[in-house]
Amino acid sequence: MKIVFASTNRGKLREAGEIFKGFEIVPVSAFPAWNAPDENGSTFLQNSVIKAEAAAAAAEGQIVLADDSGLVVPALNGAPGIFSARFSAEGTDAANRTKLLAELSGIVERSAYFLCSAVMIFPDRTVIAAEGRCCGRIIESGRGENGFGYDPLFVPEGFDKTLAELSEDEKNAISHRGRAFRKLLTFKGSSL
Ligand code: IMP
Repeated sequence: MKIVFASTNRGKLREAGEIFKGFEIVPVSAFPAWNAPDENGSTFLQNSVIKAEAAAAAAEGQIVLADDSGLVVPALNGAPGIFSARFSAEGTDAANRTKLLAELSGIVERSAYFLCSAVMIFPDRTVIAAEGRCCGRIIESGRGENGFGYDPLFVPEGFDKTLAELSEDEKNAISHRGRAFRKLLTFKGSSL
C-alpha cells in the first residue's frame, strides 16, 4: 500500500519510510495535480491540515500524510514557531540560526522544543492527527554537521551532543517528527 507524503524533503521521506514500514512512501510531487498550498494557518496543526487537504485533492483515493514542524523558544515568546523556516529575512538555515543566537544573546533561560504536527487523511475521509515534541536547550554556538535547520544549536534533554552530532537513527528515535509519526501508527481503527 502507498502513503502519499506532502513533502519533497528527502530526509523526511526517508524517515517516514523507516517508521511506516511495509508502505511505499510516495512524494506528492509525483502527482501532476499537486500544487503546493499557502501555509497560512496560525498553528502547526492548521498548516499540516492545509498540506494534507491539498495532497488529498491531488492524490484522490490514496492515503495521504503531511507534517508541519518548527522550533519553539519560550524565552522568545514562542518564536520562531510556525515561522521557523523563514525566521530571518534570507530564510536560509544558517541565517535563521544566526538570528536565533542574536535574539538569545545574554538570555540565560534557553530551554526550547521542536514540535511536529502530523496529519493523515484516508480515502474514506477519516482524518487522524498527532503531535510530537523533542525538548532541550539552545547552546551558544553551533556544533555538528548532520541534520538540518536548527539542529547544530539544539541539545536534546538527556544528551550532551547537539541533534547535528547525532546519527540519523539516534535523531529519529527522539525527534518530534519520529514521535508524531509513531503516534499516528498507534491509532486504532485507522486501517494502518
Ligand atoms: P517543516 O515545516 O517541517 O518543513 O519545518 C519548518 C522549519 O522548522 C525548518 O525549515 C527548520 O528550520 C525547522 N525544523 C523543523 N524540524 C526540524 C528539525 O528536525 N531540526 C532542525 N530544524 C527543524
